[in-house]
Amino acid sequence: MLTDIRSLLPEELTAVCKEMGLPAFRAKQIFRWLHVDCVDSFDEMTNLSLKLREELQARFEIFNCTIENKQVSVYDSTVKYLFRLHDGEFVESVLMKYKYGYSLCVSSQVGCRMGCTFCASTLGGVVRSLTASEILAQIIAAQKDALVRVSHVVMMGMGEPLDNYDNTLRFLQLASHADGLNLSMRNISLSTCGIVPNIYRLAEEKLQLTLSVSLHAPNDALRSSMMPVNKKWNVDTLLASCREYIEKTSRRISFEYSMVRGVNDSDDCARELAKKLKGMLCHINLIPVNAVDETGCVGSTPQRVQQFAAILESCGLTVTVRRTLGADIDAACGQLRKKKMKGE
Ligand code: SAH
Repeated sequence: MLTDIRSLLPEELTAVCKEMGLPAFRAKQIFRWLHVDCVDSFDEMTNLSLKLREELQARFEIFNCTIENKQVSVYDSTVKYLFRLHDGEFVESVLMKYKYGYSLCVSSQVGCRMGCTFCASTLGGVVRSLTASEILAQIIAAQKDALVRVSHVVMMGMGEPLDNYDNTLRFLQLASHADGLNLSMRNISLSTCGIVPNIYRLAEEKLQLTLSVSLHAPNDALRSSMMPVNKKWNVDTLLASCREYIEKTSRRISFEYSMVRGVNDSDDCARELAKKLKGMLCHINLIPVNAVDETGCVGSTPQRVQQFAAILESCGLTVTVRRTLGADIDAACGQLRKKKMKGE
């Protein structure tokens, strides 16, 4: 197996170059080609000799992703990409334009094994996790195609990032590296359904990113019925890890609450939620659930969402309602799915 070179951290690349008898500046040049110029092949590394390029080619592999399909929203110019990975698997990413710049929603796995009842990404289970370079490649491919710089990244696409912990952490280190894409950690959000041991691990990294936690329900009975992960780590266990995360990083947590009509959107749910989160350094993001045919879940009405938000606010919590982008191209939260050549 050839080594996936774009997943190597600068110090690892330096070590490999040393092993090959190359001076340290070569590692810097190669890192730059991979992470700033974002080339697709060793042939494009024109300040390296042909012999060296051949040596690299024999030892390493550059994982690129190619655009299999692309849909552009007529409402808001949101772009949904279907990317093909080197082994023929597919993942989706969504490019959104905001006042502050371009944000890309990236996938961390092909499919997902978390089984949330309202989500399309988990319908076929998980095929495999992505390497760090495959997560990066989504940013690189979107930037090249749209001719823009992606300044914000949300790990909210297909997959559970904390079920792919090592590659996710490596991706974060590479994407934010000053010699690479140089994304600000503060412009990166990582969303998790609540893999508690890995929330504790991430807390130790003390990163400046925004941790989003998919809560969706204030008690165990309701949360377990929507999210199987809750049977392993329940609401109180999850919230304890969130408190520790806040303590360690001094960063505010963003709780996501996808509202399913008649399921988790009652006034009582709002009051119970407010009680659970009281005193925490947090923010609540309400998302009227987006329709996915197979799930049968229907989003709460705008009036219900407003009323729910009002209760939380009256209890002193900070709340926003997520705007839906790309509604006409199934690009909204929970609608990304594993697509096959057969053409789903
Ligand atoms: N696995 C991670 C990240 C991917 S999903 C997580 O669970 O957080 C990103 C967000 O979209 C999560 O909050 C998820 O619960 C939510 N989501 C999934 N399906 C949805 C749907 N149909 N409508 C609205 N939000 C949904």
